[in-house]
Amino acid sequence: MTDPTPPKATDAPADKNRGTPPEPVLSIPGTGRAADYDSWPLLRRLWRDYLHAQLGWMILAGLFMAIEGSTLGALSYLLQPLFDKVFAGGNHGFVWLVGGAILMLFVIRAGTSIGYQTLLTRISLGSSTAMQVDLFRHLLTLDAAFFLRNPPGALIERVQGDTMAVQGVWRVFITGAGRDTISLVALASVAVSIDPVWTLTAVVGAPALIVPTALVQRYIRRKTSAMREQSGQRATRLDEVLHGIASVRLNRMEAYQTDRFARIVDAIRVTQIKTAASAAAIPALIDVVTGLGFFGVLMLASGDIIAGTRSVGEFMSFFAAMALAFQPLRRLGGLSGTWQTAAASLERIYRLLDTAPTIRDPAQPRTPPAGAPEIRLSGVHLAYDGTPVLRGLDFTAAPGQTTAIVGPSGAGKSTVFNLLTRMVDPDQGAVTVGGVDVRALRLADLRGLFALVAQETALFDETIAENILLGRQDVPPEKLARALEAAHVTGFLPMLPRGIETPAGPRGAALSGGQRQRVAIARAILRDAPVLLLDEATSALDAASEAEVQAALETAARGRTTLVIAHRLATVRGADKIIVLDHGRVVEEGTHDDLMRRDGTYAALCRMQFTD
Ligand code: ADP
Repeated sequence: MTDPTPPKATDAPADKNRGTPPEPVLSIPGTGRAADYDSWPLLRRLWRDYLHAQLGWMILAGLFMAIEGSTLGALSYLLQPLFDKVFAGGNHGFVWLVGGAILMLFVIRAGTSIGYQTLLTRISLGSSTAMQVDLFRHLLTLDAAFFLRNPPGALIERVQGDTMAVQGVWRVFITGAGRDTISLVALASVAVSIDPVWTLTAVVGAPALIVPTALVQRYIRRKTSAMREQSGQRATRLDEVLHGIASVRLNRMEAYQTDRFARIVDAIRVTQIKTAASAAAIPALIDVVTGLGFFGVLMLASGDIIAGTRSVGEFMSFFAAMALAFQPLRRLGGLSGTWQTAAASLERIYRLLDTAPTIRDPAQPRTPPAGAPEIRLSGVHLAYDGTPVLRGLDFTAAPGQTTAIVGPSGAGKSTVFNLLTRMVDPDQGAVTVGGVDVRALRLADLRGLFALVAQETALFDETIAENILLGRQDVPPEKLARALEAAHVTGFLPMLPRGIETPAGPRGAALSGGQRQRVAIARAILRDAPVLLLDEATSALDAASEAEVQAALETAARGRTTLVIAHRLATVRGADKIIVLDHGRVVEEGTHDDLMRRDGTYAALCRMQFTD
């Protein structure tokens, strides 16, 4: 059965994808000037950061290449005794010697070629893997704001695609330098030794290459940058669609999303064809210039030969050198195109590496407070992109007590958590934990003070045990067992196929909402942090899970300063203090009973919003 009505989006992520959307633009500015990302500065940085360390391997690879290259010379050299001694001289025994030597040459070629191919791979992979690790490490230092501007797909593309694009260039570069440049120098010296004037004539057209080559290079760089950006969009689409697969299906957006994806890959295809055509233009220009050179030499040489100042043999020799120089020259010409494609990626890599986090460790960090601390926000103002979110927020959460934050959606409740953990810094005012400004603490120390249980818990596609331990090796089994018990995880483990060793699935998809939350609570309990930040789930859990989660949370809150974004009546009733936020300010505070008596914002909210 077909439905004539167009697909209708019902939730936010799907909704975002409707209409003719502007594709996400990567806004990684880097801190450098544009000139810092020109070819030479890029090459210098690449050398210093990633290649310098591999110099030894490069020299060895170059040596292998030189040996391989020289075997050709040796081969041609061996032809002379073969002709003169064996064929003309009739020395049959000598053929063994020459034959054996030729065989040896081929064995040497085989060996050196394995050697340098392996080394080239080692060098290029060595630099690209180091780059990937550096990018990854750097990404983890960047601010929440950065990740809002740059979708995961685009960043994945930078770490994977761009480093791969750079990796290829070394093979081409080293081969070019090691083999083609050496051949060219040898051939040029042959040509000059025969006739310097002819040589000059042969290269007379070369200056004509400069301007067009520079233009083509710039064009390639621009197109490749566009292509890398489009690849980022492709990765973003894949990421968003695959993560929102249920929403795509339910909203019947398959055709729409496919269409959109097809447009992006088509744009990549067109850009790639243009890049390939322009990359081929440089060797093609060299063809034309070489043709001109040949023409000039012919004109000049024919006169010399007819006049008897040069022999035909000299001309043939010169001509052979020119003809042999042709291929290496074309390859070297192609190098500049290859470099431009790599430089486009390199620029993207360095721009990302040059993006400095704005939230950093202080120069002289203070020691973190001990025990359950008091939390205080005083006069905090914060705006996102010019839109004020917090406007002079003041409140105190007493040590060891539970403070509930309530308020309408968008009031700034989650922003309070982000300020405490320094995901974002206030524009004005101060946030203190145990009397210490959060900006005076080392980020690791500050974040170590908090255990956060969010509404939607980020579980990793690892086992439940790994999701709770988060890489800690030193947790005694009894302690883990106690945390599992307190978080009411023990209750559902027997229902899972492999108990605590059951994989949680991508983003925890193999567990129910209530189970995911309890895993998060176990994590929080095990962290044993002095402050518990809790964003209560708005989605209704079934009554049994609800009771389990509630009980788990009560255990977790014991002895800690607890801040909870409350959505349930039971929670606000149990809180020592309630803070009512509206439009980024505290409008009321007190206990549930106080506030109900006052019959203000809280009482209204209570009637509308709280469930139990
Ligand atoms: P609450 O948790 O009370 O629902 P939030 O603290 O999440 O509210 O958000 C408060 C306001 O700040 C909202 O209007 C929201 O749109 C805005 N906001 C939150 N985070 C960002 C962000 N990273 N960029 C821009 N605006 C944001």
